[in-house]
Amino acid sequence: MENTVVKIDNLVKRYGDLIALDHFSLDINQGEIFGLLGPNGSGKTTTINCLLSLLSFDKGNISIFGKKMTPVSYDIKKEIGIIMQNVAVFEELTVYENIDYFCGLYVKDKEKRKQYVEDAISFVELEEFRRFYPKKLSGGLLRRLNIACGIAHKPKLIILDEPTVAVDPQSRNKILEGICELNRQGATIIYTSHYMEEVEQICTRIAIMDKGKKIAEGTKDELKRMIRNTETINIEILGLSDQICSEIAGLPHVYDVQYDDERLTVYCSGGKHNLIRILDLLQKHELSFGRVFSELPTLNDVFLEITGKALRDKEA
Ligand code: ADP
Ligand code: MG
Repeated sequence: MENTVVKIDNLVKRYGDLIALDHFSLDINQGEIFGLLGPNGSGKTTTINCLLSLLSFDKGNISIFGKKMTPVSYDIKKEIGIIMQNVAVFEELTVYENIDYFCGLYVKDKEKRKQYVEDAISFVELEEFRRFYPKKLSGGLLRRLNIACGIAHKPKLIILDEPTVAVDPQSRNKILEGICELNRQGATIIYTSHYMEEVEQICTRIAIMDKGKKIAEGTKDELKRMIRNTETINIEILGLSDQICSEIAGLPHVYDVQYDDERLTVYCSGGKHNLIRILDLLQKHELSFGRVFSELPTLNDVFLEITGKALRDKEA
């Protein structure tokens, strides 16, 4: 298709006996913020490295901007901005010099480059730090420098591999806002993460990966419609008997009930008055309860239903 920016077709990548990518296919269209969501080890970075021809693969085809991608496709590469998972900047160059170096790989005209470097510095708000060396920067600022180095040449396709891991919440929000802004300015974005909240927040379309396979794909609403869960109800309650638990399990639209650590969790599929029905039942038995809340499905629920395991362990 005309507006397909990235086409990955049946990619297989092995590391010895391990299949890191198992017949993985993906189409990404112009203007998307495409999210690649999966737990650690699911194959996100391997996908990006194959996409950029930094890594050879065993089977499959990759084209970008309608052309086959190869290690020497410099005309394609100059239109791509890449922000790697591990910060890659030169310790002996300042913030300004680092951005100028990476921009200079693609933009030879000095006047134009000067403007581009300034644009990148103000985009990531590193004006005050332009003469700093990387080792003087906090983790969040270093991430922002890494991003500036990747986007200074104003690429049409920007790939960010887990750019918010171990970043403080303030820098994290800046990074997410920045990605949306780059998209508004016209760039197509590929964003990998194992944080479902971020992917839900910014991505227009999402592929969920597990063990090198694409297990689901769609907008966040489409993904959530694929599963039976529509509502999860949590109630803090003491000493609930098995008898009452099974009465709750027998209510309409309830498909699973768990009770541990004084917390009742009820999984519902469809229906409008699930919470009221449960509370009525508890009241009928004259049971008192603490905090009550109802949650809509998350991408974690999508992952859980398809794979039978959580996307990541609940954070303490
Ligand atoms: P993600 O980025 O989603 O965390 P990766 O693409 O880094 O996942 O890794 C996918 C799988 O490939 C993992 O099981 C990982 O251990 C394995 N892997 C990655 N790089 C190598 C390598 N250079 N040699 C051997 N195995 C690797
Ligand atoms: Mg990775």
